[in-house]
Amino acid sequence: MRDLLIGQVLSFDDDPFLEGPSAARIEAEGAVLIEDGRILAVGPAASLRAAHPEARRHDYGKALISPGFVDAHAHYPQTGIIAGWGKRLIDWLNTYTFPEESRFGDPEHARRAAETCLDLMLAHGTTSVCSFCTIHPESVDAFFTAAQARGMRVMAGKTCMDRNAPDSLRDSAQSAYDQSKALLERWHGVDRLGYVITPRFAPTSTPDQLAALGALWAEHPEVAMQTHLSEQKEEIRWVAELFPEARDYLDVYERFGLLGARGLYGHAIHLEPRERDRLRDVGAALVHCPTSNAFIGSGLFDMVGLKAEGQRIGLATDIGGGSSFSMLRTMAAAYEIAQLRGEALHPAQLWWLATAGSAGALGLGDRIGRIAPGYEADLTVVDLASTQAIAQRAARAGDLWEALFPTIMMGDDRAILATWVNGKPIHRA
Ligand SMILES: [Zn+2]
Repeated sequence: MRDLLIGQVLSFDDDPFLEGPSAARIEAEGAVLIEDGRILAVGPAASLRAAHPEARRHDYGKALISPGFVDAHAHYPQTGIIAGWGKRLIDWLNTYTFPEESRFGDPEHARRAAETCLDLMLAHGTTSVCSFCTIHPESVDAFFTAAQARGMRVMAGKTCMDRNAPDSLRDSAQSAYDQSKALLERWHGVDRLGYVITPRFAPTSTPDQLAALGALWAEHPEVAMQTHLSEQKEEIRWVAELFPEARDYLDVYERFGLLGARGLYGHAIHLEPRERDRLRDVGAALVHCPTSNAFIGSGLFDMVGLKAEGQRIGLATDIGGGSSFSMLRTMAAAYEIAQLRGEALHPAQLWWLATAGSAGALGLGDRIGRIAPGYEADLTVVDLASTQAIAQRAARAGDLWEALFPTIMMGDDRAILATWVNGKPIHRA
């Protein structure tokens, strides 16, 4: 059975940071034809209606049909501790994160958290996420099982730590390698699931553990590797004490085989020029987590400068250091952080970051993040007049970007009319 979604269709053929807003393809009275989880065609509604009279019609009127949002960095086990008050990064980990993560050896607790997190993401229009789990293999099984049941394309991995964490959250170099390898072999490439080798960050791994995970990545270059980089200045000083031989923070990862094109580096705020050069030269991806950076007081990511020098960048909530499940709120925070650096991001750039940009950062840019024939049918339908405040502002808009921007700045899950995952709809109740 074919489905025809009718509305304003927005997708990107190119990167608006390079090409400007014309990188977007906008079909004001458009439609998307899908079948068996794939996009078959996109174009004017009238012609697709005439060509496919048999298709089930879903008329969303003036609502926007967008690629589903892609959240390039999150910690699903932190769902229950989101919005924990008043700490810097290291205190925040010790006070909120580690006690909660200690509970994820219990498969039932992990199942409930995974289902809650993914259902919240879908309600906010997010169809794909790349998540950290905990040290417990059960936490990875729970997340992939929940995503598989929902038909979602997700990436995730066991978070490895063998020092500077509570006893209940420490593995070892050998068990991190063995368990990560077993989980990779169990889950990678099954349905829409992808494994990610996941050292939490340099301070919580010994050199032996980093080397073991680097060896695993060398054996499995087909998977991604995710970690954190240069989030806060006191963290960077700590890394320098722990690894005095390293030239800088990124060099710790590079020395242990953890720098590569499929590497995902969360935060990347306080980078040295040498680190920026290396990240660009290897084609690694940086992941901007703006609500988290504001919430934990980490600093102002240099979006414009990093894009101008050719870095690959995705956008993410960083749940639960981040303070919202909404990629709309996350776009707004990216806008605000750029404003604090004296730069205004165009709505096209923000929307691209939350869709094609993040998909590309995750190495999934040929499958998700765009509305084009052959792409997987993950779509988000966005009401551009979801509240009175947004509606009265959007009503004055002269073009789509002006109509979209109030929803970016003031929108939340009320703006999500429907989320289509793998060609199947989840309509808002
Ligand atoms: Zn994180």
